[in-house]
Amino acid sequence: VAKRRGKNRTVLFEQSMHDQAQERVDTERQLRDALRDGQFRLHYQPIMELAPGRCVGFEALVRWQHPARGLLGPGAFLEVAERTGLIVPLGAWVLREASRQLLEWQTDPQLAHLLVSVNLSGQQLQVEAGGEHDLLAMTFPEGLHLEITETSLVDTPEAMRTMRALHRRGVPLMLDDFGTGFASLAAAQRFPVDTLKIDRSFVAPLPGDGDDRHSAIVASVVTLARHMSMRVVAEGIETPEQARAVQDLGCRFAQGFLFARPADAEVAAAFARAHA
Ligand code: C2E
Ligand code: MG
Ligand code: MG
Ligand code: MG
Repeated sequence: VAKRRGKNRTVLFEQSMHDQAQERVDTERQLRDALRDGQFRLHYQPIMELAPGRCVGFEALVRWQHPARGLLGPGAFLEVAERTGLIVPLGAWVLREASRQLLEWQTDPQLAHLLVSVNLSGQQLQVEAGGEHDLLAMTFPEGLHLEITETSLVDTPEAMRTMRALHRRGVPLMLDDFGTGFASLAAAQRFPVDTLKIDRSFVAPLPGDGDDRHSAIVASVVTLARHMSMRVVAEGIETPEQARAVQDLGCRFAQGFLFARPADAEVAAAFARAHA
């Protein structure tokens, strides 16, 4: 009986492996179609200057308006997009759409000051010079910032070339999820970044309960950033206590559900007007 049950389990296991593989193939095909059919959307989450509680701009976050499954977040498709290389054309679409939106906002005096940051995949930094979707062949409007996570920052000559060239052109770079990689300090020093975004895992435990390691980390990042003339954004602020804590630690900018969840461009613009 045990043997038969074991065998059944194996069959079930193989079936589920097969289902997962099939699901990936399906997702890949659907992603290609979605890109062709214009099913991607951008949502915008406010970046706040804490002291006056002012909206200085937005982070653009990609969404997939799936015909059957509804609005999907990046967790549902980014991994497949990365693995199949579809992230490169998808990322190019995100950049074009965010740039278009930013230029539209810039025609409105009440919104003209806003920045928009776009998340990049490491793969986008490695497109060969002159290739389709080469970042250096694109023009970015004033106010467009680029976010890159330390862990996706591959230390290849192409990636370095692209980052340095973007920096020389004056495109501000933000180091996203700062502190979650193995070599955060090295990354902050080696790459030409203007802003550190402190990962929400450091913010979540604030305010500390006596054992104040997390406050110490945030304070250190703020000090580091000041010495390197960088700005700091605290990510993932969910409570007024957390906002107060990071502000007391010297953090000037913040983002999180406390202020607003990511929303479409119209809702975002209304938020910016209400928090000018
Ligand atoms: P990220 O760049 O660190 O973006 C912040 C994520 O945290 C967003 O999730 C946002 O909705 C969420 N978040 C914001 N405030 C809070 C908060 O107070 N509490 C909690 N629990 N979460 C908060 P989202 O939109 O699901 O995006 C997840 C990740 O997907 C992003 O993390 C980014 O790495 C990636 N991503 C999103 N859009 C793009 C894109 O256009 N291109 C690329 N390459 N990656 C993207
Ligand atoms: Mg980001
Ligand atoms: Mg982040
Ligand atoms: Mg993240």
